[in-house]
Amino acid sequence: MPRLIFRILLIFALAGAAGWGYLWVRQNVSGASLTVGDRILDVQAPLLILGLLLGGIGFYVLVRLLRLVFFGPSLAAQALERQREAKGVEAVTRGLAAMEIGDAKSALQEARKAEKLLHHRKDRSLARLVQARAQTLAGNADEARQYYEAMLESPGTELAGLRGLTAQAAASGDTAKALQLTRRAVELRPRDPAVLSAAFDTQVAAHEWSEARQSLAASVLAGAVPKAVGKRREAALHLAEGVEADLAGDKTRALSESRAALKIAPGLSPAAALAARLLADGGEKEKTEAARHIEAAWAQSPHPDLAEAYAALAPDDPPDTRRKRLQRLIKSYAEHPESRLLSAELALAAGDAPAARKALAGMEVNHPGARVFALMGAVARAEGAPESDLRQWLARAVQAPRAAWTCESCGLTAPRWVCCCPQCGSFDSFHWTWPPAAPVADAHALEAAMAPLLEEGGRRGAAPPAQGSATVVDAAPQRPAPGSELVPVPPKPEGGPEAKPA
Ligand SMILES: [Zn+2]
Repeated sequence: MPRLIFRILLIFALAGAAGWGYLWVRQNVSGASLTVGDRILDVQAPLLILGLLLGGIGFYVLVRLLRLVFFGPSLAAQALERQREAKGVEAVTRGLAAMEIGDAKSALQEARKAEKLLHHRKDRSLARLVQARAQTLAGNADEARQYYEAMLESPGTELAGLRGLTAQAAASGDTAKALQLTRRAVELRPRDPAVLSAAFDTQVAAHEWSEARQSLAASVLAGAVPKAVGKRREAALHLAEGVEADLAGDKTRALSESRAALKIAPGLSPAAALAARLLADGGEKEKTEAARHIEAAWAQSPHPDLAEAYAALAPDDPPDTRRKRLQRLIKSYAEHPESRLLSAELALAAGDAPAARKALAGMEVNHPGARVFALMGAVARAEGAPESDLRQWLARAVQAPRAAWTCESCGLTAPRWVCCCPQCGSFDSFHWTWPPAAPVADAHALEAAMAPLLEEGGRRGAAPPAQGSATVVDAAPQRPAPGSELVPVPPKPEGGPEAKPA
């Protein structure tokens, strides 16, 4: 709109200037004398102006004609090329729009058209980029790879090509190639947050913990990852390495990595549990260190594994001694549900049903988990309640949700801490929480698992209390049936998430 107004104003200004010029010439120029041969012609001013105007137009037409004669063919070719390019860019736009709505067929058609139309361009990266993306969307991995590889030739698209090839290698399980491509990308852009983030994901997926820590440190340095998050992730990387070493039987590395994790994040309960388990076989010094790790972790993020590991440090303790010793953990975070459950378990094991009932008071409402109901049943039995009461508690326990390691991104639950979610790929997303009611795979199996409560309640005193937390108290088993270890549940935290190991 402003452009139109400007044009109108310009036309008015030019018309005004022309009128004014004409009047000026009429007033100040009387005419001109032309000598043609031996004759002198007097030309009036208006005629002179008209002659000059016509002469100018004639000159312009002549120049255009000469240009067309001498440069006509190349000018026509240029015009055609411009037209092709414009059509090519239009095809690129339509292709991108088709990709945006996931229409692979149209995206491919437009990408092919774009490549054909932009074929003569010196820089073919735009057409290659669209082709690579369209082929990926259409699931043509081989064709996409060819375009990604071609993109490596141009500095402008090298990084995008590397990224595409890395994703392809990762998807096909070729971690060595993915890592190699990632290193090349980091060499190209060592401080680019997106490159570092992609490198971190690839390195974690490839279990290259040390390289992942380097990428993480670079991301923190670049300001892409907050320092506190960086610390927590660094600890998780050490823990992941420790868990892997433990599974491989490398106890020394497992211990050193779990220690490194705890040095950064003392509240990381899986690291404390791992370190404690590895130290438990040692002498007094090792056991003291294990106890220190467990106490520090419990104070921040209580977890049943910690209580179990703490009890295992002195497996021959009588129930009363064990109860007294575990009080140290309970007192450090007394209001936490895990502390209250442990307190109830210990009281029951020592035959102190009133103390157990007191510890559980209100939990059936505030923390309605399977373990709470199972413990309520055990208390009822210890108090000599009728069998029907006990069965009611157990029925509630079977249906109640269980505390579990839950991915905060997608809601997947796992029986133990894992560094990367196998469902959504998020790193360090699992925290100990009470998920919404998970589908009960086999109610009969659960009832069978709870049978000891009915039959062996009187013998609890003989069993280590923490062991009880895994076998007796935990009505719904923490470890689901083989093959269903990871149970997808809707990502809806309910029943109050327990402290995330921090
Ligand atoms: Zn997830």
